[in-house]
Amino acid sequence: MSLTGKHILSSDQFDRDELERLFELADVLVPVARGEQVTRVLEGAVLASLFFEASTRTRLSCESAFLRLGGAVTSTTGTGVTSISKGESLADTARVVGGYCDLVVMRHPEVNSIHEFAAATNVPVVNAGNGAGEHPTQALLDTFTLHREFGRLGKTMDGRRIALVGDLLHGRTVHSLMKLLTRYEKMTIVCVAPEELGMPAELLELAEGRGHQVEVSDQPGQALREADVVYATRLQTERFADKPVPYSDDFRIDRSLVERVCREDAVIMHPLPRDSRPGANDLSADLNQDPRLAIFRQTDAGIPARMALFASVLGVADEIRGSLREARWYRPSFTGPDDAPFYRNSTR
Ligand code: ASP
Repeated sequence: MSLTGKHILSSDQFDRDELERLFELADVLVPVARGEQVTRVLEGAVLASLFFEASTRTRLSCESAFLRLGGAVTSTTGTGVTSISKGESLADTARVVGGYCDLVVMRHPEVNSIHEFAAATNVPVVNAGNGAGEHPTQALLDTFTLHREFGRLGKTMDGRRIALVGDLLHGRTVHSLMKLLTRYEKMTIVCVAPEELGMPAELLELAEGRGHQVEVSDQPGQALREADVVYATRLQTERFADKPVPYSDDFRIDRSLVERVCREDAVIMHPLPRDSRPGANDLSADLNQDPRLAIFRQTDAGIPARMALFASVLGVADEIRGSLREARWYRPSFTGPDDAPFYRNSTR
């Protein structure tokens, strides 16, 4: 099924064949994302980037992905500066903005917002996070990261043990990731959360219904053993209203826990931002020198993964390979000071 012209609202829209096609294209786009090659397949196209909720990575990487494909970007952030603050409906906003651009990327704090918005325009809309609902492009880049990390480690995608840790109730990235993981074979998905913040039942049922083993635990010290992937998440305090936050320091993923229980070849991920404030019990910065920590390889993967998606939705994916040329400006060989070992053996 072609993605051309489609709204991308849920990660469940991607089946395994589609994921493999997107990752093959994203692999080709890595040098473009890194500023080593240039393509202009979206020359003349305009992205409208609408972020009605806080964002750093998703907004900047969607915009960078579109720009690196040769397109242009127009954007707005927050509701205070748009006519939504004057009472305009999302449907009216969608119809208007659709007349200004070729693709919309939208983030909004309410779950139903993206459906309401997409129903009011024929211009493709990509969901960049709808409240505690979904975050399909994050799941795409997370799974693309796994494809690259497992490739480097000589592992297949199938048959892996993946531990999702933290606020699995409100974390939209893990909702979308669950759906993508079910597209592979014989996965064991371990959902590790305080009881009050567990993965929604319908997602546990979906994974079981698609033939995977699902385990539920509130003990990271036990549940992370033997995991190929530890995917930590931030407590989504902005979705709690005034309820007290039930998150003990058992959920702090730090060097002492990782050294005690994790595999030597584990891949440690997080959608970011990680909460670095004292007492936050999130993924700790004391892991920064541990090569298992893949969080910045993960953020880097966001550009080629989103480029592959945008090129596919706008129907120019087949033109990319023939359009590439070398960039002429200065770029360091590796973006991060610790990146060299992870890129040396890849094609790029
Ligand atoms: N950046 C991710 C999101 O927007 C994760 C997070 O905020 O915790 O969902």
